[in-house]
Amino acid sequence: MVSRVIPVEPFDLVIFGATGDLARRKILPGLFRRFIAGQMPPEARIIGAARARHDDAEYRRIVREAIAEFASEDVRRSDGISAFLERVHYLPIDATGEAGWKELAAMIRPGLVHAFYFSVAPGLFGALAERLHQFAIADERSRIVVEKPFGRSLETARELNATLARHFRESQIYRIDHYLGKETVQNLMAVRFANILFEPLWNAQFVDHIQITVAETVGVGGRGEYYDKAGAMRDMVQNHLMQLLCLIAMEPPSRFNPDSVRDEKLKVIRALEPVQAHHIVRGQYVGGAQGPSYRDDVGNPKSRTESFIALKCQISNWRWAGTPFYLRTGKKLRARISEIAVVFKDAPHAIFGQDTGRHRNILSIRLQPNEGITLGVTIKEPGPGGMRLIDVPLDMTFADALGDEVEDIPEAYERLVMDVIRGDQTLFMRGDEVEAAWAWTDPIIEGWEAMGDVPKPYDVGSAGPEDAMMLMHRDGRRWREIR
Ligand code: NAP
Repeated sequence: MVSRVIPVEPFDLVIFGATGDLARRKILPGLFRRFIAGQMPPEARIIGAARARHDDAEYRRIVREAIAEFASEDVRRSDGISAFLERVHYLPIDATGEAGWKELAAMIRPGLVHAFYFSVAPGLFGALAERLHQFAIADERSRIVVEKPFGRSLETARELNATLARHFRESQIYRIDHYLGKETVQNLMAVRFANILFEPLWNAQFVDHIQITVAETVGVGGRGEYYDKAGAMRDMVQNHLMQLLCLIAMEPPSRFNPDSVRDEKLKVIRALEPVQAHHIVRGQYVGGAQGPSYRDDVGNPKSRTESFIALKCQISNWRWAGTPFYLRTGKKLRARISEIAVVFKDAPHAIFGQDTGRHRNILSIRLQPNEGITLGVTIKEPGPGGMRLIDVPLDMTFADALGDEVEDIPEAYERLVMDVIRGDQTLFMRGDEVEAAWAWTDPIIEGWEAMGDVPKPYDVGSAGPEDAMMLMHRDGRRWREIR
């Protein structure tokens, strides 16, 4: 079964920061995949821009190498690369200077969809918006794509929103959170809102608690300087974990359209109670046989930045009153896994005499690796051994169910870029959502700073600090294993 790919409208996509890490690792290989999938119309054009003085031929070589290095095996084997590269151009442009802007204005074709991807340091977003306006490059139909981080506090996010709003309407601004581009995240919405099975149980009466884990095995990589000023709260919780929390907790929107979905997500963030200090555990990995410490990695021997965070939060509304949400994320942990687990309550009466709490239905939504959804159900152990119960996963992993079609599931970035071209903002964060998320995280961060809080140490390759386990144990619960 081959999935139906509908080509998007002809477009000019300008990537500012076109020689950078993100462009080479994600955006360009993703665009190539959409090209070979047949989603790009013949008139589509990609214009790379950065300060370095390349010409088209040199930039095409960079793109070819990026695809060879970062695209998946099946894509690398495709012979469409030369045809793709014909659509790729390059202009040397300085976001803060005059160079290149007139040439860009002359190159953009009127009447098409224009998208401008700001894949540069956030300090340049304002300058780019300003120049696009000054040189009359952007018009009413233009879209801008803005990368994370979107500010580092409520105040800075507000300033950034105001800067962009000077030249673009909210409907033209696409704030990327690539977690929202994952197939499973959208499937989560389908599972919740297209089936009658789950929604009646999706509340405090039947759900014991919800866990969201985003565990990484990698450290800070080359981003040490940025990360040490941000930490896990700003880098992961304020955006990715918060977005996942919204999708799992939100009310059914009246329609699946951008503003209905984003209105419901915003209500979740606004209903979040402030987190109490003893419901948060910050951690920082220490060095040893497994590798260098966080402080070595970032080159800051006195750093108090957290590379791990676990917290318990509550949503004050009718649906979730009293249901804890446990969030955790960290670097250099035992395994790479992103998962949302909805842990249902015990059956009200254990007629089989089994320990209560031993057999619980858990809906696991796994974003990586092996994207998919499983529902743990309790059944009778097969055989003549009497009425013994075991838990088995009911697998909703679409890779198995959909066979060949799954090969063509776009990855997060390519899906999101195509959504930009289509003008669909459903999977992008609205300005007020981002501000509300900062309004919730700011007091937590300010509290640490005021107290001079020092993160708890944890070993590289572990599941985080011991205190994070205790956060759950105190409530008679435990984290899902990181493996
Ligand atoms: P990067 O590797 O440092 O690349 C920066 C790019 O911007 C280069 O192409 C650079 O080329 C260009 N640039 C720098 N100054 C410029 C100027 N004044 N005018 C025009 N172009 C300029 O950065 P990155 O890792 O790709 O990150 C880009 C953005 O994505 C950042 O906002 C980052 O936070 C965000 N992001 C990155 C990742 C990731 O995995 N890398 C993940 C999430 C978000 P020249 O020096 O030749 O100008």
